[in-house]
Amino acid sequence: MNPIGVFGGTFDPIHYGHLRSAHELLYALKLAEVRFLPCGLPPHREPAIASGEQRLAMVRAATAGEHRFVVDDRELRRDGPSYSVDTLLALRAEFPARSLCLMVGMDAFLGLPKWYQWRQLLQLAHLIVAHRPGWVAPDTGPLGELLRDRVTENTDDLHESRAGRIFVHAVTQLEISSSAIRKMTLAGQDPRYLMPDAVREVIMKSGCYSAGLEVSA
Ligand code: ATP
Repeated sequence: MNPIGVFGGTFDPIHYGHLRSAHELLYALKLAEVRFLPCGLPPHREPAIASGEQRLAMVRAATAGEHRFVVDDRELRRDGPSYSVDTLLALRAEFPARSLCLMVGMDAFLGLPKWYQWRQLLQLAHLIVAHRPGWVAPDTGPLGELLRDRVTENTDDLHESRAGRIFVHAVTQLEISSSAIRKMTLAGQDPRYLMPDAVREVIMKSGCYSAGLEVSA
């Protein structure tokens, strides 16, 4: 069985930057699926603006057309901060023999040493680091060291073992961020074409980032 991609995020809201990266990694790494996990309470940042239910609805709407995109709401159902290590422990128990590939952007990777029990992550999964505009891989410090020990350029390594390697992959650089989308929506601007229409519709109908905007046909 091919590896499972594990893609966590606040997804507040999900946008084409997330979706395009997931799509490219699905093919480049020959993943069986990409599992989208909207987080409940983000441990390293302020809470999401949209509710868990709204963010889940947006992720479901965004991924509906691709059967290899799987939506997993376990972090939203869990109390307390959504630690990735807890999610990976649960997935490892569910899929004991499968390779798990935790997908993060380079910005998230650079903050890895601040994650709860971060060294345990690589015992549970491989780490897939997608380049994001403006970010470069570190070559010093604990992350530089980790990269030197664990990095691979061979996707076979991700299939042949269940965890422990780091794979850095360039994805098409789409300079889209959830915070910019929230900001423009609040300012009354239309976020159209930055995300699937079905996601935009959830935003407009729920008014989760602003009140008073209407969906134009
Ligand atoms: P915010 O602007 O609120 O910080 P965000 O757009 O970075 O949000 P998150 O849900 O926090 O979105 O990100 C989830 C994951 O997706 C992270 O690993 C992040 O690095 C990655 N990511 C976010 N935006 C992009 C993008 N445009 N291209 C590629 N990866 C992205």
